[in-house]
Amino acid sequence: MATNIIDFESARVRAGDHMVRGSAAYGMVRAFAVSARGVVQAARDAHDTSPVVTAALGRLMMGALMTGAMFKQPDELLTYIVKGDGPIRAMTVTANCEGQVKGFPANPYVWVPARPDGKLDVGRAVGKGTLAAVRDLPGFEPYSSRVELVSGEIAEDLTHYFAVSDQIPTSVGLGVLVGRTWDVECAGGFIVQLMPDCIDEVAEQIERNLASVTSVTDLLREGATPTDVLCRILEGLDYQELEAQPVEFYCGCNEQRAARATMALGEDELRDMIAKNETAEVCCHFCGRRHYLSPERLRELLG
Ligand SMILES: [Zn+2]
Repeated sequence: MATNIIDFESARVRAGDHMVRGSAAYGMVRAFAVSARGVVQAARDAHDTSPVVTAALGRLMMGALMTGAMFKQPDELLTYIVKGDGPIRAMTVTANCEGQVKGFPANPYVWVPARPDGKLDVGRAVGKGTLAAVRDLPGFEPYSSRVELVSGEIAEDLTHYFAVSDQIPTSVGLGVLVGRTWDVECAGGFIVQLMPDCIDEVAEQIERNLASVTSVTDLLREGATPTDVLCRILEGLDYQELEAQPVEFYCGCNEQRAARATMALGEDELRDMIAKNETAEVCCHFCGRRHYLSPERLRELLG
């Protein structure tokens, strides 16, 4: 007798921002895809970014979410730092393997002319520079590597990063569509990697499939889910989905961390603030939240 098991948990996850992980061609290919409209909108709300910065930061955050999903240690952190000579200047994003990401741009208010095809010119806003990746596992020295930016469009830069740093042939697609009201209409992306045992026929099939995909945002706008995106890119290669997990914009900053940061100012500075009856204000770069420490709290910290 056939039984239909409806997985409510999976349905709940897939209804919101989420990421899927799978493999194809008997493990010769591993793949990730994400839909993250809410995540990118949360970053836009936190930093009040102009459309081109929303797109640039959103692409980097989604790239970090999928890279973080490759890690096996739950407390391992991945940070991508993009530095360029374009007006954004820099972006820093941090993700873990639990689907949490946070990030901020050095300059959230950037205006550059649109590209001839009407799309936001992320490459121009980022400019020439470097992409650094820092992997941080508690108890170990952070491991970092850095590559030159290829185009500043982020997806191409991450593709280059995986080829140079990890020696893994990778296809990365990332897209953020910003509407007229500057809100995020859709955001998503994929990472498809060829494992060392991958045969040429599989690589060629993926190349053919990718050639028929014009852009990630086009697929998302047509209503494609992350699973649909991977099924399309891995068509004919027996795609198997392994996991779906929710993703969110999350910053773990709190009053305690703000207090630690304030203590770093040094005893003299704290005494001075208490003498002037000043409240210390600590603004978190990653999420824009402000934490306040009253003179009483500062006195407590000194004690
Ligand atoms: Zn924060």
